[in-house]
Amino acid sequence: MKFTVVSRGDERSNKIKLTVKQYLTDFDLIYDEKEPDLVISVGGDGTFLEAFHRYVYRLKSTAFIGVHTGHLGFYADWVPEEVEKLIIEIAKTPFQIVEYPLLEVIIRSHTGGKEDRFLALNESTIKTAEGSVVFDVQIKGEHFETFRGDGLCISTPSGSTAYNKALGGAILHPAVDAIQLTEMASINNRVFRTIGSPLILPKHHTCLLKPMVDSSFLIAIDHFTETYTNVKSIQCRVAKERIRFARFRPFPFWNRVRDSFVAEE
Ligand code: NAP
Ligand code: MN
Repeated sequence: MKFTVVSRGDERSNKIKLTVKQYLTDFDLIYDEKEPDLVISVGGDGTFLEAFHRYVYRLKSTAFIGVHTGHLGFYADWVPEEVEKLIIEIAKTPFQIVEYPLLEVIIRSHTGGKEDRFLALNESTIKTAEGSVVFDVQIKGEHFETFRGDGLCISTPSGSTAYNKALGGAILHPAVDAIQLTEMASINNRVFRTIGSPLILPKHHTCLLKPMVDSSFLIAIDHFTETYTNVKSIQCRVAKERIRFARFRPFPFWNRVRDSFVAEE
């Protein structure tokens, strides 16, 4: 089996990376940054997002696992003290796989040309540096509302504990194949009206955002933001691709939620 290790780059993470690399090669596994079957992320959830995007083109054949070197993460859920146990488990392959849903985002331009397609592990957010965004929001091809406000966030179930949670969205178990649409400070008065509640859209219920004012948009996919002009539409739906996690021991989602947000030391 081929593996690679992605480190956050700090001293502690780099040290763990070296240990993992050394031990796994001792167990006759092959270190391969190009075509890994297993990607081990060492750092935080941010590092995991980076590792995901680095290998997003080979999701079908790659499994991910995260070790955290700071606080407990949602993706990085192994502690450094467990690394040796983890290495032995990895060396014993084959391992169990757990899959989580992803978000597909397609950005189309007025000028035609090639559309941009992305997969997000946490979410996509759409904002502007020029006042508010104004969108015609369509769901499954039907007009739903005209949104005017700071922006919108469309998250995956595993991303629901990140930005989405800060916006008052629900925490969605990753066994639910859905995406969630949350508002950022919508303007509600006699002229503009939005639903105001987060919406959870099942598979095949595509959400299409059509700008009604031609501004430039800040479109973020997880930790990466880009500016777009001439945007005709932004299409969001549950992706057909999924992320695969290598699972070596049970650590239920609700326990991770509890340990991250409510458990006392
Ligand atoms: P960051 O500023 O370090 O991330 C913000 C925090 O979100 C960090 O504590 C990060 O954990 C945590 N996080 C990432 N994914 C998570 C998840 N699925 N569940 C719970 N917490 C999660 O930037 P980053 O590390 O590059 O992460 C990018 C993410 O930041 C975006 O995808 C977005 O979800 C989030 N974000 C949140 C807000 C907000 O809550 N108001 C605003 C902007 C962005 P680590 O420290 O382990 O990296
Ligand atoms: Mn981070």
